Amino acid sequence: MRPKCCMNGQMERTWSELDSHNVAKAIELWHELGNEEFISRTRFKESKRYVVIDQGQLISSKPLLAMAFQLQFSCSKDGPPSLTGGDQTRSILKRLRYDLIDLRTADQNQLFEPATISIDPSTKFWWANQTANFDTVFQEGTLWAPRSDSRGRQVDHWRNLDSASPGDVVFHYGTPEIRGVSRVETMPGSTYAPHGYAESGTKTAGNLVLTKPISRVQVHRDLALRTLASDKYGPVNTLGGLRNGYFFPLNTEGALALLGQAGVKIVTETASTDVLHDITSEPAFEGLSDKSSIVAVRREQRFLRDQQLKRRGNVCSLCGESFPTAFLVAAHIKPRWACTEDERMDIHHVSMLACLFGCDALFELGYIAINDDGKIEHGSQGFQQVEHKTKCIIGLTCLAFNDQSREYYSWHRQHHANSQNKLH
Ligand SMILES: [Zn+2]
Repeated sequence: MRPKCCMNGQMERTWSELDSHNVAKAIELWHELGNEEFISRTRFKESKRYVVIDQGQLISSKPLLAMAFQLQFSCSKDGPPSLTGGDQTRSILKRLRYDLIDLRTADQNQLFEPATISIDPSTKFWWANQTANFDTVFQEGTLWAPRSDSRGRQVDHWRNLDSASPGDVVFHYGTPEIRGVSRVETMPGSTYAPHGYAESGTKTAGNLVLTKPISRVQVHRDLALRTLASDKYGPVNTLGGLRNGYFFPLNTEGALALLGQAGVKIVTETASTDVLHDITSEPAFEGLSDKSSIVAVRREQRFLRDQQLKRRGNVCSLCGESFPTAFLVAAHIKPRWACTEDERMDIHHVSMLACLFGCDALFELGYIAINDDGKIEHGSQGFQQVEHKTKCIIGLTCLAFNDQSREYYSWHRQHHANSQNKLH
């Protein structure tokens, strides 16, 4: 494949090239931004009639397609071609396997299929207080707590996160109600604060669990607190109020009642057949073994990439080109196996975004390296064979290079130089 920087001019894009991955990305963005902000970033208007339904919420169809198009082709509001009417919108969505709902003719009872969740006897249930950051972190699927407070003391409601494991169900609370239900996908692992947490940016050591959103729900605090009995460890204090703190265990009986109130349908399983339960007890951020489920690996990759996208936008750190996010991966500068625990936690600096049009592979295999000034140079691998691929980027500044990442790039350069020397 040719690097984009060598291509001549821009091609005219059409709706027929839109892919479903970017519609899914646009839906994620809709949840993150909220309806108004989302629509304002497109040139289409809100429709009260033609919608796509996701997690029980109504998303106007034209703005959704426009945003998906903008994401896929990295273009502005003016980029998407016009959309003539309901029929065209419907046929584009149909090709991408999404249903366009006409609210005037739809049967109200069939509109909202209840979310379902499978439960087995080993499933644990948790309550997370996230009033400050629910909107940001629920969709991203992160639960993070510092390891200790500013005086180095351990805090029980933070330490509870250490006991979460794949398959567990989490109720996410943001005043004044339970606002989401999710499922745990990884074991807790050490990281510094990810995007959306107050301590983000500073190097506070903590534990991270990745989750998958199941459904947005609404269960008012008063009802939820009445449903859950007060006990020593849960979110309800002895006065029947909400306990201060972050992460609390729930007893099964109370949790099942809450799921009912949230409108989530429970599917009971006697034996565990769920793929999530195949995950071994390896922490996701401390080296995944072959035994570990592919679910957790994918989840971690997507998480790292999303963190980088938040920081840098959809730009390859090496060639500097913008690409649809599907063509960008989180490339480890220094691989996890070579990192100290501190380095592994440094998720914002130990990886970068690299494109699949050559940059990711050239870097990983050592055909290019980053020097101490942050400039891209030939790696120690025989560069002659790939010169036609590297010539566009040699001499450019690596966009992810800074004081915190310098040592990781230096390790990468040395590592490939050493392995090359061994061959001679
Ligand atoms: Zn690139």
